[in-house]
Amino acid sequence: MTLTNAQWRLAARPSGLPKAADWQYTEEPAAEAGDGQIRVAVQYLSLDPAMRSWMNPGRSYVPPVGIGEVMRAGGIAEVIDSRHRGFEVGQTVFGTFGVQAYAVSDGTGVSVVDTALAPAPVYLNTLGTGGLTAYFGLLEVGRPEAGQTVVVSAAAGSVGSITGQLAKIHGCRVVGIAGGAEKCRVLVEELGFDAAVDYKAGELRAQLREQAPDGIDVFFDNVGGEILEAVLSRLARGARIVLSGAVSQYNTADAPRGPANYMQLLVNRASMTGFVFTDYANRFPEATKALAGWLADGSLVSREHLLDGGIGAFPEALLKLFAGENTGKLILAL
Ligand code: NAP
Repeated sequence: MTLTNAQWRLAARPSGLPKAADWQYTEEPAAEAGDGQIRVAVQYLSLDPAMRSWMNPGRSYVPPVGIGEVMRAGGIAEVIDSRHRGFEVGQTVFGTFGVQAYAVSDGTGVSVVDTALAPAPVYLNTLGTGGLTAYFGLLEVGRPEAGQTVVVSAAAGSVGSITGQLAKIHGCRVVGIAGGAEKCRVLVEELGFDAAVDYKAGELRAQLREQAPDGIDVFFDNVGGEILEAVLSRLARGARIVLSGAVSQYNTADAPRGPANYMQLLVNRASMTGFVFTDYANRFPEATKALAGWLADGSLVSREHLLDGGIGAFPEALLKLFAGENTGKLILAL
């Protein structure tokens, strides 16, 4: 069967926020599955802040996307042809299929997902990258103890909303930092955070002083920049800062801004540790089982923010992450 594939390719390396000219839209006949391969139709595309960093040149934890290449993206897809013994037509799978309607894969990094256990988009969120990042970042790097104060930035997003809920499950006092009153309401009223701080309302340091009077034991940082600096000024002795990401810095044309007050780490005998969730790949089954258990017993709520519009909407949809327009995991339905 000849199908037409639609793709977004990287046309140029952006300076600042990606603009239309940084992308190229292409259509071409979809490749057929060869021996040992599957062909999939992508249904849901994961939109991740990290995609912006993959557009930059230079060394990182994954190679940059090449100019002219299909943009890298995780996705949920249906197997529509299989010449691979491990996959059957009709299965729903997760993989890094790219920003395109159809993909061919040899099965590397592709996993079958059980849509009887949870709806497919949840596998791009709590039962996927978001959940795994929250689980290992909080529990292995942050090592929170019951009764301690955990602060999470970008708390209403995918990683942040799961991290805060996991900290509650582990008996901590949890304070989320998010942009806007409505996101703060969701954190407290719908996701069970103890408190939420609206960094867009100003006076962030005073708000943190009020909500974390005894200091902050664990800071799970997704944002960096000024928010990181404000939290550094309120650390408890022995605090752990989990460096998950720095979304406030991904679109700066200059070098990322580091914290001017980093000596607070010394003063408070604190540590700041970066991690990448894939480092824990051999423990994904353990984490997924635990996360699925908390979803099933209602102690964890998975929130997805689904966008319609199909593949054509990709460039605009990605920008919503950097404008803070999402609550929960941002996903584009194809
Ligand atoms: P997300 O939090 O669902 O979406 C991004 C959020 O960041 C937005 O909703 C917005 O929320 C906030 N934001 C955007 N620009 C900002 C700015 N200039 N200042 C402050 N806040 C800003 O995205 P996600 O996929 O869950 O990713 C969150 C973080 O986790 C990112 O830093 C990402 O790189 C990181 N991550 C790390 C790993 C790892 O293995 N280390 C894996 C996956 C993701 P507000 O409206 O609240 O501003």
